[in-house]
Amino acid sequence: MSTGTISVEQIARAGVVGAGGAGFPTHVKLSAKADTVLINAAECEPLLHKDKEVLRRHGEGVLAGLGAAMRLVGAARGIVGIKNKYTDVIAKLRPMLGPGMDIAALGDAYPAGDEFIMVHEVLGRVIPPGGLPPDVGAVVLNVETALNVALAGDRPVTHTYLTVGGAVANPVTLCAPVGTPMSQCVAAAGGPTCGPANYIVGGVMMGYIEDNHDAVVDKTTGGIIVLPDDHVVVRRRRQDWKQIVRIGRSACDQCSFCTELCPRWLLGHPIEPHRAMRSLAFNLVGEADVRGTSFCCECNLCSLYSCPEDLDPKNVCSQNKRRIAAQGKRWQGPPFDPRRSELHLPNRKAPTHRLMQKLGLTGFVNVGPMVDEPLAPRRVGIKLKQHVGAPCEPAVAVGAHLRVGDVVGRVPVKDSKPALGAPVHASIDGTVTAIDATTVWIEAGCTSR
Ligand code: SF4
Ligand code: SF4
Repeated sequence: MSTGTISVEQIARAGVVGAGGAGFPTHVKLSAKADTVLINAAECEPLLHKDKEVLRRHGEGVLAGLGAAMRLVGAARGIVGIKNKYTDVIAKLRPMLGPGMDIAALGDAYPAGDEFIMVHEVLGRVIPPGGLPPDVGAVVLNVETALNVALAGDRPVTHTYLTVGGAVANPVTLCAPVGTPMSQCVAAAGGPTCGPANYIVGGVMMGYIEDNHDAVVDKTTGGIIVLPDDHVVVRRRRQDWKQIVRIGRSACDQCSFCTELCPRWLLGHPIEPHRAMRSLAFNLVGEADVRGTSFCCECNLCSLYSCPEDLDPKNVCSQNKRRIAAQGKRWQGPPFDPRRSELHLPNRKAPTHRLMQKLGLTGFVNVGPMVDEPLAPRRVGIKLKQHVGAPCEPAVAVGAHLRVGDVVGRVPVKDSKPALGAPVHASIDGTVTAIDATTVWIEAGCTSR
């Protein structure tokens, strides 16, 4: 692995995207200028262990990616933000740190992994509402993204790491070819120990329930948490919007705990979820008085932790946020108040153990050791959109024989310019057996039609 010469173009060709969120194309992120690159290893979602396990196993590669990113954005500093409880991983990383690199040991709280919180925690800088880390001189990369940057000169992104935890026999962190069915990942963790099983993809706080257990993992899938039907998290997540409004309208007593503990409000951003809840009583969701909901990061802390009535301000905020965005309205209010972050944020973090108690997760085995051998599915589905931006166009036809790493979907070009996006690649050797509107299907060892 030689990272001294890795270019933004190589990173773009390798299809590297943010592995811990929406999948923002990394080559675009690394075209910015910044004084500091942060590796976000806070991993605050309960029961997820992927980032720490990847760092433990591939620390040298992650730091090589950090070094490459620092060079590309012109940063003199590179910092790995990781929870201080992972002393063994920190001890392993320290001797490998390159020039300008350091480790920031973080407390065990949620949402330490939110990049706004991470930038404030590590650098003491507040990203303004609606802003991005480069606005305050920082670039933030996920752990696996940094590893993929380091490998971009040798191979494209064909595999992803994910933790499978919760109600499974053996919680693990797996390496799976992109496009592996989720049911195979859960089977590799010993299978569900409950029935019927619910798959929460991405984490119990910010993820989503996937009812199609043969849906496939993509470059951004960081975890699958399996929970039974009667688990509180599942019941809360299966509430429909009409229930949320009806109960919220009658039961919210405007105590404002949701606002007082909201991490974005604590950063000084103009978001007040209790006001969004108040708007339910006046059928005002989406109106001007709750426009600050545009700055909700959907961390779910207000709904799953703060609210004593178990109401759902997060969904009220996110519904409102989407409607405002669709109307093209923007926040026009007074400047935000960054002093709030100094006054209140340090004392109002949600400790992970309390969050896990509240969510009924303390009964699950909370480990996810890395399994060395990658999964070997017989069939994979390579989604044409695994990133922020335009979906890829298929670059292959049914019957094509592919090797791991061959381009399967390319970024569309408009007016001679590539759209925002990232190419996708074959993750197993095999033959293309079907192409539908969203996915290219490849079967291992299949003969040509
Ligand atoms: S914490 Fe719950 S009850 Fe209190 S204002 Fe917020 S939504 Fe209403
Ligand atoms: S989900 Fe709730 S706590 Fe999180 S940012 Fe939005 S309003 Fe604040």
